[in-house]
This record gives sequence, structure tokens and C-alpha cells, in this order.
Amino acid sequence: MNEEREVVILGAGPAGATAGGLLAKAGHDVLLLDRDTFPREHIGESLLPAEMPLFEALGFAPEGEAIPKAGADFVDERTGQTARFLFRDALPPAPAGAVQVERSVFDHRLAEHARKLGADLRYGVRARAVHTSAEGARVELGDGRTIHARFVVDATGRDRLMCGQLRAFERVEGFGVAAVWGHFDDLGNEAVAELADTGNITVLLLEQGWGWVIPLPNARLSVGFVSTERGVVCDAWFDERYAASPLLQRLTAGARRGPLRRVGDYSFKNTRPIGLRYGCIGDASAFLDPVFSSGVAFAMVGAAELARLLAPALREGREDDPQLLAPLEQKMQRAYDVFGALIHSFYHTALVQNLFFYDDPDPELRAGLISVLAGDLWREDNAFQNMLLRSGRRLERRQTLRNRRS
Ligand SMILES: Cc1cc2nc3c(=O)[nH]c(=O)nc-3n(C[C@H](O)[C@H](O)[C@H](O)COP(=O)(O)OP(=O)(O)OC[C@H]3O[C@@H](n4cnc5c(N)ncnc54)[C@H](O)[C@@H]3O)c2cc1C
Repeated sequence: MNEEREVVILGAGPAGATAGGLLAKAGHDVLLLDRDTFPREHIGESLLPAEMPLFEALGFAPEGEAIPKAGADFVDERTGQTARFLFRDALPPAPAGAVQVERSVFDHRLAEHARKLGADLRYGVRARAVHTSAEGARVELGDGRTIHARFVVDATGRDRLMCGQLRAFERVEGFGVAAVWGHFDDLGNEAVAELADTGNITVLLLEQGWGWVIPLPNARLSVGFVSTERGVVCDAWFDERYAASPLLQRLTAGARRGPLRRVGDYSFKNTRPIGLRYGCIGDASAFLDPVFSSGVAFAMVGAAELARLLAPALREGREDDPQLLAPLEQKMQRAYDVFGALIHSFYHTALVQNLFFYDDPDPELRAGLISVLAGDLWREDNAFQNMLLRSGRRLERRQTLRNRRS
């Protein structure tokens, strides 16, 4: 049977569930579809303070099944250098902390929360194609049915349904290229207490890459390694890095490791994230790199901005304006510019040595760096962020010149 709805959202991950929850809360008719049945596995467990006001707007408490996170530690076990950044030391008003979550539980709770707010949530429904015109939007489902709607939101994550359909894929080069990770269960009491002290993510600096150490609820630890080199990531590559880390050996002594998983080639941009009666949010719009844990924050911030623009447009019948979501595109472009420059500096410059590990950094630059790490990106008074934006623009100019020459 075909249906007519006001808004159809494809994908019920953090982006789709946030947009669905906020639009339903504003009184709109929302159909929220996901091809999977939740709970389902997902990577991306370390959240940022930027998400906390959005949980509040949704009336959602992430703390239920989460570890409070005060900040981030960067550790180079080869040299013994360490740096700790606490979100409370960011530029004022300093954000509260964040949380570390088991994504299968968190995503399920967030999607069910959108249902509580009024979204019609359906699992196991795959969207196959989207068509939009001045008259309306149409979603073809995998089972042959069609949904008609006034507006379609693509929140299909790395499947990026519309990006593929519109041939709008642009690869982002120069960051990490592949990751392998696993979970350790039944951590010892001492390790659990040590990890819960700050709840921080630890970023391990390695030859040709880095690793993450994320404490999770129920005596669990997420450990992953990211490579900047192609073709090397495999289970043995994980085992070598795990064996070489005294920190990991100590934290996981006596713990049980589950299966390893891998992903690669995740850095990309959708060059047509908005248009006539559609908007792409979260990973369906872009994903840069897992370092600095920005994925869920960007997914939720984009979703909230989309809901802010779309709700009044639906009430006033303006949702057919192809430029309706231009402010969303601009807002997210700033996020990608700031984090793009930070991630580039992390992989290709001495940023970590010169700022992260520097004993006596300029206090304003340090506070500015922490604000960026917290995802507080839309302020004008952050000297560190302004520096990043300038370096990003220089990089882009150099790239344009190189492209012209070749
Ligand atoms: C190695 C790695 C580590 C990461 N670590 C972090 C981290 O620590 N912190 C962080 O914030 N982020 C992290 N991320 C990024 C994070 O995983 C994503 O940015 C985040 O999940 C994006 O949310 P989303 O809602 O856009 O997409 P998703 O969470 O992927 O949700 C998309 C949903 O769409 C559904 N879907 C797909 N296709 C269809 C279809 N055709 N029809 C219907 N439904 C569909 C899927 O089933 C899925 O449930 C990491 C990423 C990687 C690769």
C-alpha cells in the first residue's frame, strides 16, 4: 500500500532520530525508516559536549547507559609524552562534559525516544531511491511500495543513498584510510575504576596512525587502531599494536576480547547535500575522519539545524524552496572547515608536538583548542579556531594551484 506523509526520514541513526524527534516534537507528521532492526551494532562511541544541549532539546537523558567523559588524553608511549584536555578548561562559557556510549544501546534508545515524541518509527524498511520535483517527493522502498511526502531527509549514514543517486561523491584524501577495532569485556575492577576516574578517551599516537581507547559501561573497553597507510589493516596489525602498548596490556589484563571489525575509505563529501525538497544530514552529508570524535556531534547538530529550518517552512508551505536549507549547508561547512584543518594538522604537521605536548602553551590557544575539541565551533572569539580556518584556506589555495598545474 502506498502512503502520503509530511516528512520521510531515511535512517534512524543519531542524525535521523534527532531530526525525527525534533520535527515530531514541533507537531509534524514524520515517518522515520531504518533498513535495520535495532538494536544494531555501530562504531562511534565517544561523544562531544556539543551534543549535550541537543539531548536537552529532545528531552533525552544519555546518561542512563553511558560513562561520563571529562575530556581527552593524548599519549605517545614511544616517548612517554602525554597531554590531558578537560572540557571544563575550554573558552568560557566552558561546556559541561560529554559521555561515552555503547552505540547499539544509545542509537536504539534515541530512535525509540523519537517514537515517543511522535515519529512513526519503522525498522526493517529499506529505501531504494528518492525522486523530488516542485510538486512533491517520492521514496521507493525495497519492497516495491512508494511513499509520497512533502520533504525527504536522507540520514542513511555511510550508505549515503542520495549522494550515490545524484553522483555527488567527492573523496577526501590525506587522512586515516582504514580502522580495525574490537571490544574487551570483563575488565578488572582496578581498570574500571581507573577508566571511570575521568571517563576520557585516550588517543594513542603511533607510527603511521593512531589508536583509540574508550571506556564503556559494564566493564567494557573499545580499542581501535587507524592506519594512514593503505593495505596494512588486518587482525594481525591490530594484534601487533595491542601487544606493543603497555597501557592496553595493563587495562585489559584478564579481559576477554570479542571479534575484530574493519572499515576503510570512509572520508568523503556529498557535493549536493541540499536541494529541492530534500536535505542530507550526518554521514550522508560528509564524514572526515574518526580522530577527534566529531561524527555523532555533526550528525546531531546538522539534524537540529535542519529541523529548525524545515518546521516553519512546512507550516508556511515554503518547503519547495531549493535553497531552504542553505543555512544548514553553511553551518556544516564551517564544521568541516575547522575539523578538516585540525585533522590535516594532526596527520601532516607538528601540531601534536608543538601544541598538545608543549609544556607551556599560550593559555588562550590551549583553551581555544579545547573548545574546538568540544565541538563549540560557531563562535567568533576563538583565536585557535581562526588560525585553523586560515591554514585551511591556505591549504585549499595550494590544492587549487596544484590541480590547475596537473
Ligand atoms: C572507525 C570509526 C570510528 C568512529 N568513532 C567515532 C567516535 O568515537 N565518535 C563519534 O562521534 N563518531 C565516530 N565515528 C563516526 C560515527 O560513527 C558516525 O559519524 C555517526 O554514526 C553518524 O550518524 P548518522 O546518523 O549520520 O549515521 P548512522 O549512525 O550510520 O545511521 C544511518 C542509519 O541509516 C540506515 N540506512 C542506511 N541505508 C538505508 C536505506 N537505504 N534505507 C533505510 N535506512 C538506511 C542504517 O541502517 C543506519 O541505522 C566513527 C567512524 C568510524 C568509521
